Amino acid sequence: MSDKINVEELKRGGVVKLKEKGLFSVWVKTYCANLNSKQLKKVAELSEKYGRGIILFSTRQIPIIPFVKLEDIDAIKRELKKVEVGLDRCGPRIRNINVCYEDSICKDAISNSLLLGEKLEKYFDDPILHKTKIGISGCSRDCIAARVLNDLCFISVGKNGLYDAYLGGKLGLKPFIGLKMAGPISEDNCIKFVDNYFNLMKREGKDKERSADIINRLGKEAVQKDVLKDLDKIDISKIKCSTHVEDKQFDKVILKIKATCGELTAKQVKNISDVAEKYGNGFIHFTIYGSPEVPGIDKNNIEKIRLELLKENVEILDKGIDNIQTCFGGYCVKGVFDTQSLLKKVDRSIGESGLKNQDIKISASGCPSSCGISYLSDIGFLGVVEPVIDEGKCSGCGICEKNCKVKAIKIINKIAFVDKTKCSYCGECIKSCPVDAVQAKRAGIKMLAGGAYGKETALAEPIAEFLSEEKALNITKNCLQIIKERNIKLRTIINEVGLDKFKKMVLK
Ligand code: SF4
Ligand code: SF4
Ligand code: SF4
Repeated sequence: MSDKINVEELKRGGVVKLKEKGLFSVWVKTYCANLNSKQLKKVAELSEKYGRGIILFSTRQIPIIPFVKLEDIDAIKRELKKVEVGLDRCGPRIRNINVCYEDSICKDAISNSLLLGEKLEKYFDDPILHKTKIGISGCSRDCIAARVLNDLCFISVGKNGLYDAYLGGKLGLKPFIGLKMAGPISEDNCIKFVDNYFNLMKREGKDKERSADIINRLGKEAVQKDVLKDLDKIDISKIKCSTHVEDKQFDKVILKIKATCGELTAKQVKNISDVAEKYGNGFIHFTIYGSPEVPGIDKNNIEKIRLELLKENVEILDKGIDNIQTCFGGYCVKGVFDTQSLLKKVDRSIGESGLKNQDIKISASGCPSSCGISYLSDIGFLGVVEPVIDEGKCSGCGICEKNCKVKAIKIINKIAFVDKTKCSYCGECIKSCPVDAVQAKRAGIKMLAGGAYGKETALAEPIAEFLSEEKALNITKNCLQIIKERNIKLRTIINEVGLDKFKKMVLK
């Protein structure tokens, strides 16, 4: 079996290769986006024993143990099984199901999204070979950006489990905001909707296609006809999550924890698990912004908790902006720049500026695949690399053409040609060329501004590219200054003055 096949198989089982030779990351599945204290402590222990004692929190609402050796994976799986936890998946499979809070914890929730989440959990083991993400939000605020982060998205619009159903959401090289296909429909009809989508993909889906691709290829109406077929005809079974809260907790608060770059040490994670057990509901909720949360906290205990958390230098996220999030960035095989290095500097700038607005979001992705939430943030960063073909070396083999996901390469007269109007600057062709005929002309950071999600979902727009870390930091400081002066989101400012004028304001 070749190394490549092994890596793909491992990915499908939730084990992802890292940039550092011989090291992998283990993606731990969560249940309705929660783990109880005991389960999270186990994750922390395993990170200390088999990794480097750090845990990452990803947009899939899961914890990840990085820097693990392949020979230790089985032991990690066995240990996790003891606390009833399995691994998530990557690659062309069903991913961890994204859910916000249930209606006993969040007072804005119209329906209990966990109930639908439990029913949808059964699809996690479906053998479908298409990357499929599913998300459920309890109201139109859509705190988990389900419409953009998920192929299948359900947003509650009516009491007792009535949802609007969306299809097509994704980030990646060509971000797509999910289209409304049905609604309001019952929970059971949401299940049938998912069932129909899987049947459609198994029948019509081409290799590597996702929901947005099939909508673009077959048209919205044709897809809609398929996914709405025979609603009301389905057998419902469900897998019960262990973190239900029966009584309303509207007098309690949710404690947000600061985890810059979605990263905490094992000791810090154990400390947070202890707080959840002692002061909360005994479980930890994972957000798309890489900050773990502890629901069910009595406001009167906050200062006591703050002191307990400080023993491990853990901060409550109640100053500055929302949690600063990134993908694997510097640890990822595809990472073009060190997202963690830039974001830690951005975090310091925010501290110095005294800016306080928890609505403001900043995120970075190490490459245009955009596994972070750069396109949905006020300020986003992507690593980019521009390819250039050395015609003297190119044999015209076409490997780069096959590997280019956006079809930006054509072989003309046995020489590769890059169409810059289509190129997303991901650098895949550089890695794939067997004779090094594709080289990096320049590499750097692309900056985006004005992303938002929820009722006003909008994808961030590019404002500058191929920046050094220093230049990106300076532009970020200009953006932060404007936010501080006006105390509004960048999307509002861009809508007011137009993108060109906004660029002039921040690129000075
Ligand atoms: S965005 Fe790129 S660098 Fe970041 S995790 Fe995804 S593939 Fe890796
Ligand atoms: S993979 Fe390399 S050699 Fe083959 S066509 Fe592309 S640039 Fe030329
Ligand atoms: S031409 Fe190369 S860098 Fe551009 S999108 Fe295709 S694979 Fe990526």
